Amino acid sequence: MGRGERAPVALQSGVARCALITGANRGIGQQVARVLARDGWDVLVGARDGKKGNAAAARLRDQTGGRLKAVELDVTSDAAVAAAASALRDGAIRIDALVNNAGVYREARGPDGVARTIETNFFGPLRVTLAMLPLLRDGATITNVTSELGALANLDAGHRRLLASSDLTRDALVGHMRDYVRGGGEGWGTDAYGVSKAALNALTRLIADELAARQIRVNATCPGWVRTDMGGRGAPRSVEQGAASVLFGVMAIETGRVLRDGRRIAA
Ligand code: NDP
Repeated sequence: MGRGERAPVALQSGVARCALITGANRGIGQQVARVLARDGWDVLVGARDGKKGNAAAARLRDQTGGRLKAVELDVTSDAAVAAAASALRDGAIRIDALVNNAGVYREARGPDGVARTIETNFFGPLRVTLAMLPLLRDGATITNVTSELGALANLDAGHRRLLASSDLTRDALVGHMRDYVRGGGEGWGTDAYGVSKAALNALTRLIADELAARQIRVNATCPGWVRTDMGGRGAPRSVEQGAASVLFGVMAIETGRVLRDGRRIAA
């Protein structure tokens, strides 16, 4: 067991049925969709490009024989997220697992890149979570896909204290992220990608507390460094391994944790 890792979390042998996965048209999100569809879940394949979403859903239906449907969902757009939530509500959909997987990495530099990275990786999961809350069943899980690059150890001491503080509120965190974008991504001791995932980990803890009364479990899961378009061909982990690590969030009994391969990691 590596530094900072703890004992494995327990898994739930639950009967959850419907999952919504953002950014599921390729990469880790697509593999999470594939596994859940094979396991008999109804899977909503979130994709910002409707054509890519439909193509992915069709491809995965062919491969798995499962029940998959595309949902057009650009996580950076209030309008798109609200429209998706409204369409799902009209279809009487109830969600048992939300996987906030969509993310960007290479865009992390320059003011536009900083804004896009924080908007996608931090505000995206927040926006989608809040919009989908009425559709989530009590006892559902929310999984925010994070990265080791978001570990607090990568931040300067002041921001490390800020994100780790038990006094941090969701509003304050949102304010800090807006300030960070306005400031062009200066400070914090790491790049916008690392900041976005560190803030996502902090958000995970805050939302976990907010939703505890509904028994909704909220965890951040790190896939490791994975061979996808984002991770590149030189990454040590397969997409199957990365997705397996994310799937621990879907099944976790614990809440408010940062996990890799089902074990808590320093974050
Ligand atoms: P990919 O680049 O392979 O896929 C990213 C997915 O996110 C695509 O489906 C993409 O859609 C989607 N996406 C990007 N922006 C948006 C948006 N605004 N709205 C909706 N969807 C969007 O990445 P991975 O599969 O490797 O990464 C998945 C997650 O895992 C990310 O959160 C990433 O940060 C995290 N991660 C990945 C690691 C790795 O080594 N690969 C390591 C650690 C964490 P489109 O096709 O339209 O671009």
